[in-house]
Amino acid sequence: MRSSTYRFTEWTLSAVPGAEIRYYGKCLECFAQSTDAEVPDEAQLWCLKHAGLSRCTRYEVHAFQHFDARPTDSPAAVRPN
Ligand SMILES: [Zn+2]
Repeated sequence: MRSSTYRFTEWTLSAVPGAEIRYYGKCLECFAQSTDAEVPDEAQLWCLKHAGLSRCTRYEVHAFQHFDARPTDSPAAVRPN
């Protein structure tokens, strides 16, 4: 017979140092997508260029940022066996 131990830990989410918010444009008609950039203007410019080339008319600009999840360091979370 096998016993299992479940430990519940609180987690903290932190932005990856040096990883700023990035932006990319996406065409909602043919699903083409730009590379990501530091500023939303570049993503919007990609949409305009894509519109000129493809005549696609519906777009989204996405923003994203990378985060790390780590167990929160807390003495209360450590329970001796
Ligand atoms: Zn398109």
